[in-house]
Parts: sequence; C-alpha cells; structure tokens
Amino acid sequence: MQLTDHIRAIPDYPKPGVVFRDITPLLADGAAFKHTVDTLVARYRDQGITKIVGIEARGFIFATALAYALGVGFVPLRKPGKLPRQVVSQRYALEYGEDELQLHADDITATDKVLIIDDLLATGGTVLAAVALVQALGAEIVECSFVITLHDLPGAERLNQAQIPYYTLCEF
Ligand code: IMP
Repeated sequence: MQLTDHIRAIPDYPKPGVVFRDITPLLADGAAFKHTVDTLVARYRDQGITKIVGIEARGFIFATALAYALGVGFVPLRKPGKLPRQVVSQRYALEYGEDELQLHADDITATDKVLIIDDLLATGGTVLAAVALVQALGAEIVECSFVITLHDLPGAERLNQAQIPYYTLCEF
C-alpha cells in the first residue's frame, strides 16, 4: 500500500505559501489506517518498549493505537495548562515565536524505554522538545517515529546530530 496516496496536500494552509500535509484521508480509510498501525507494530513489537509518548494532538492518534497493540503505556505530551499534576516543561522555537510542551513528571521513570511518536517531522523543534523532556526524566529513547517527514526541512538532520534514532513511514 502507498501511504502517500492517502495524504492530501492543501496549498496555502494555514497561511499563504505553506503546503499542509493532511492525514485525515489516511485516518478515514480503514485499510490505510490499519496498514499504518500494523507497520509500526511490526517495527516496535520486539524492542522492549515500555512507554509510548504521543505529541499533541495528531501524534496521540498513532501513539495510542500502537500502545494498545503492544500492550504498553501511553503518555501524552501536551500544550501548557492541560495536565493537572506536576509537570516538566520545555519551551521551543517556532517559525515565529515560541511554544511549550509538558509531560507529567511521574509518567516516565529512568527505567523506561520510550518511543516518541508524532504525525509529522518538519523543523524538528517539536520533537526535540519531547526528546529533552524524556531525557530529563532519565529514560532511554528507543526511537522517534513519524508518519511523514518533510525532507526539505532539517528535522531528520537535527535528530541525527543529537544521536537520536529516527524513523519515518513516508517523505515529501
Ligand atoms: P516541527 O516542530 O517544525 O518539526 O513541526 C512538527 C509539528 O508541527 C508536528 O507536531 C506536526 O503535527 C505539525 N505540523 C507541521 N506541519 C504540518 C503539516 O503539514 N501537516 C500536519 N502537521 C504539521
């Protein structure tokens, strides 16, 4: 199955000049969604993963399906103000301005082997914030995994420089 056939390019969204990669057709197609999750299950089944961290919001979709299939924990990485207990926080740069991600401080421990999942890797700012949070809690990062990588942006190179294993299901 060709996953790229199920991802639509939306020109000038959310602003002029940007081509947004829309995964909702992939999600709406049962066979394509199942194929996506099954591919991730096959890759991560025997790697001793204990927690899957999903990045708000589209990362949750793949992370929870995979966590269920592997029988391991799911941990949400959220925008500020959404998690009710003690958090660890990491700010990161956006194209214009800054954003922040938070993780419950006791959702991950130093004995965990963690897989980080998001729908798409672009500049890498988001996932590197996730990496910093998981590392701050002392856990091992098995891999950072994406459905899509935009190969003309530096995300994969930045993960490589940080010596964090990286995987993507498709590229544009
Ligand atoms: P980065 O921090 O520049 O790597 O951007 C990645 C984050 O932005 C991910 O959480 C994505 O969900 C989101 N994102 C950026 N561009 C797109 C897109 O074209 N489609 C879907 N999500 C995107």
